[in-house]
Amino acid sequence: MKTVVIVGAGQAGSELAVALRQNGFSNRILLVGAEPHLPYQRPPLSKAFLHGKVDQEALRIRALDAYTNAGIEVELDTAAVGIDRRTRSVALADGRTLRYDKLALTTGGSPRPLRFGSGHVGGRTLHHLDDAIALRQELQSGGTLLIVGGGFIGLETAAAAAGMGIAVTLVEAQPRVLARTCPPAVSAFVEREHRRHGVDLRTGVSVRSVTRRDGALLAELSDDTVVRADLILTGVGIAPNDTLAATAGLAVDDGVLVDAVARTEDPDIVAAGDCTRQWHGFLGRSVRLESVQNATDQARTAARTLCGKPTERFTAPWFWSDQYDHKIQMAGLPQTGDTEVVRGDPSSNSFSVVYLRKGVITGLHAVNRPRDFTAARQLVTGRAAMTGDEAASEDLPLSELMKRHQSTAERRA
Ligand code: ADP
Repeated sequence: MKTVVIVGAGQAGSELAVALRQNGFSNRILLVGAEPHLPYQRPPLSKAFLHGKVDQEALRIRALDAYTNAGIEVELDTAAVGIDRRTRSVALADGRTLRYDKLALTTGGSPRPLRFGSGHVGGRTLHHLDDAIALRQELQSGGTLLIVGGGFIGLETAAAAAGMGIAVTLVEAQPRVLARTCPPAVSAFVEREHRRHGVDLRTGVSVRSVTRRDGALLAELSDDTVVRADLILTGVGIAPNDTLAATAGLAVDDGVLVDAVARTEDPDIVAAGDCTRQWHGFLGRSVRLESVQNATDQARTAARTLCGKPTERFTAPWFWSDQYDHKIQMAGLPQTGDTEVVRGDPSSNSFSVVYLRKGVITGLHAVNRPRDFTAARQLVTGRAAMTGDEAASEDLPLSELMKRHQSTAERRA
């Protein structure tokens, strides 16, 4: 194989390029990205970057030198618009064509659009560095902000804006925030903290229409109230960028379909990161994961596959969120039917929720409990057995359970 073209210069694309070199690939690597920026970390965009605590340079995953020194050609501001699998070539928006021997798709996701009523006034979204730069500037000049969507993007932005003294209203269509990803105890904690910081948080409410009057936006909500805002931000989820793959005839189903080692059905094409729906060896089902950890791990897997060393991973996925000075961390991917056990007092600032299925830990949500989280990552990956009482016992650190689990596993081995 002579040339690997990587389409999408985000976390997964950057990692994949470097991992190819680490796996001994010595020929041409071309990393093509639609954005004008070198690959950057996306999670801080709605956190430290919005607050002004870190600058643009600090977000860079690698400096330009790191690519140049590794012989990785980076083409920014360059969108791929088509793939011809027969001639093995990628068409670019500027009219050029790139030939590949192997192709990697790391195209990420895009915010799901939301249009309000017939006026077609859409909210802003926060996904790209340029979105965050513009939003940061606007927040610095004051005003009022309406956020639509109580997922991580909406809530982190609310926390950052409230911290900057902005009057924030947040509406969430579901009866509680974070309903997709967190248990009720964590949602209740997060709602409480936002209200304590002055956010006007309304659940079970959606936006019916938005009109513009006298330079301000008037949002009419489903409960007939009206919210006046200078700016509206929507954070109602991410859709995978899988059109390029679908148009090229590859199988997609809310994400480019890949197996456990990042292969699409075309032996010359792999895919990794937010754009994929993967068969996940550890979870034993197909999932779409939006996380840095997945983008990084799956990209490394894809690189090994391209180098002829496909290796399946069997680790639990994990995620995190920062809001105010709180850290929420999640290990595993709990499912309905799992038993929830609370460790600590959910009305305090520090507690965890452990998930058990048939006496085995399947996941954990930690609120300001990094130790529980660190132990849980290993326990979940090791499919450790524990009782509900053990999971709930504050006298028994989860790391102790880990030691016990390891010695049981050694005895069995
Ligand atoms: P993100 O990564 O954008 O935060 P999530 O899926 O985690 O995505 O959260 C999006 C949130 O937006 C969910 O809690 C969902 O219930 C909420 N939501 C979706 N559509 C609407 C809507 N029309 N109005 C208000 N909230 C919405």
